[in-house]
Amino acid sequence: MNVTFICPQCEQTTRSEIELESSQVVCNCCQHQQPIATNSLGPGSAPDKSTLNRCLICGNPELFIRKDFSQRLGLLIIFIGFTLSSIAWYNYWTYTTYMILFGTALLDLVLYSLVGNLLQCYRCHCQCRGLDTENHHHFDLEVHERHRQQAARLAELSVATDQSAGAVTVDTTEIPSSNSPKET
Ligand SMILES: [Zn+2]
Ligand SMILES: [Zn+2]
Repeated sequence: MNVTFICPQCEQTTRSEIELESSQVVCNCCQHQQPIATNSLGPGSAPDKSTLNRCLICGNPELFIRKDFSQRLGLLIIFIGFTLSSIAWYNYWTYTTYMILFGTALLDLVLYSLVGNLLQCYRCHCQCRGLDTENHHHFDLEVHERHRQQAARLAELSVATDQSAGAVTVDTTEIPSSNSPKET
């Protein structure tokens, strides 16, 4: 099993292999050692699979099941199909046009049904592969919205904190008035 996450140190997306006994994941870019949230992994239904009780990275217990299918790849297939069918349509190859459109739609569908599931954290968006998904549900917009608003409030709060910290610095140093923050 593995986890794809945004490294808190270098802010790059990285993937790391994990075992049931693992206590940390290592960033491939900066070698930062990110400790795994306590009690996040447990034994699963099969001996080779573990269950995920909470997010490995941020400890959030809310995760959702999603298809391990690259949206970019899906869109690329549709785009290629659209381009080729437009060329065929331009040349009055009606039968070929429909065959291309049908073929690309079928290819998308087959690929989608072949790929497995992964677990994604609502809070930090890390993706965990190769785990038991039985104790989790599919995407819930309400839960997603709650986490999104929470993240927005936290971002606002950190900006406010930064500004008040900045104000203290401004008080102690002389800077031209044109550099003062525009917002009051
Ligand atoms: Zn890193
Ligand atoms: Zn998380």
